[in-house]
Amino acid sequence: MSFACDLLIINGTILTEPGLKAPLPDGYVAIQSDTITAVGAMAELPPQTSARQTIDARGDLVMPGLVNGHCHAAMTLFRGLADDLPLMDWLQKHIFPAEARFVSKEMAYWCSKLAAAEMILSGTTTVADSYFLEEAAAKAFHDSGMRAIVAQGIIDFPAPGVPDPAKNIEAAEAFIKTCQEQGRKRITPAIFCHSPYTCSAKTLRFAKTLAAEQTCKFFIHLAETHHEVKQIHEQHGMSPVQYLHNLHLLDHNTVAVHCVHLSDEDISILKHSATAVITCPESNMKLASGIAPIPKMLAAGISLGLGSDGCASNNDLDLFGEMDSLAKLHKVANLDPTVMPASQALRLATSGGAEALGLGESTGRLAPGLKADCIILNLDAPHLTPFHHHDLLVYGAKGSDVRTSIIDGVVVMHERQILAFDQAETMAHVRKLATALHSR
Ligand SMILES: [Zn+2]
Repeated sequence: MSFACDLLIINGTILTEPGLKAPLPDGYVAIQSDTITAVGAMAELPPQTSARQTIDARGDLVMPGLVNGHCHAAMTLFRGLADDLPLMDWLQKHIFPAEARFVSKEMAYWCSKLAAAEMILSGTTTVADSYFLEEAAAKAFHDSGMRAIVAQGIIDFPAPGVPDPAKNIEAAEAFIKTCQEQGRKRITPAIFCHSPYTCSAKTLRFAKTLAAEQTCKFFIHLAETHHEVKQIHEQHGMSPVQYLHNLHLLDHNTVAVHCVHLSDEDISILKHSATAVITCPESNMKLASGIAPIPKMLAAGISLGLGSDGCASNNDLDLFGEMDSLAKLHKVANLDPTVMPASQALRLATSGGAEALGLGESTGRLAPGLKADCIILNLDAPHLTPFHHHDLLVYGAKGSDVRTSIIDGVVVMHERQILAFDQAETMAHVRKLATALHSR
């Protein structure tokens, strides 16, 4: 028997379901067009197999591309702009004013493309992005070759692209329609309400109704800080989770980001409403927001993914570093090294994140029928030698160990060179925008 394919990865250690299955020590992945057609041991590869392109992954590890469950890609412009501040000062005194002045379509396009470059180079193949002027981000992700859920931001303040907040739902609806009409492969529109403290009950309900009508995901920052919990309790006499539950906003199409401050009752509500949660440990650590009860949420069976959050509160988009932080943060917080093992961190950054975003049947695993989103890591490095166990991907590997990134069957990065677009041009545009920011 023989078969032909477009792209064949051979001789690699294949990790088909990180955190769930043991790796295949000497295997192959066959890709036809945008889809994985076969995964198996080299010994089982039909001898007459032909491929238009073959990548020899001898000594390398092949795994699914990582899934970044929450990002504000355009905020790469604000990387390092205001470090070491509490969230409310950071947001109200620095980020919101900078956004009001410097976020434009041009900025959102180039800065999202820079984020795409950083993510592709560090092994992320799918991102759920939430920001303003999201059509520009959609174009940037399309042009960069990434798979993306692009969520148009809604907030009850004048926002970039929507100076009149009374028109924020209208603008989001127009965005979804445009995005659907564009029909760009790999790009899925969604809605992002900034938070329960920056959107009124009316705005939240209208936004959720719009998302439901368009069968879109509804993203929201939720229970991020003590300040938010206090404010919502003072205004509504309940927790942020209970408040959203009462507004009928929590269901399987809602993705709640952060969920740092939760009661046991809140966890039960999230579980029974089938709300997915994205945790962003480095952002929560940097802004000293707190530590999300991830082990409790895992025990409750909540669908969980991992996110970087925006660059301004992280300050990078490397999910390998994020996995390391996730695993270690919960160990020290619980004084228990068995809490949050590396396998859980790997699962959250791959199949767990894909499922939380409703993409579990498309990406996050290497299996026939799934989209061909995979990365190849070079293990021939001192910090990865010896490679006893794939836990080292969490505790030792860096995004810079990724040698090749393949998205939707296309090799978008190989030998650390982005092939899908001009990285130098993108960086030059962002540097120019940053110059304007510094001379404000
Ligand atoms: Zn965020």
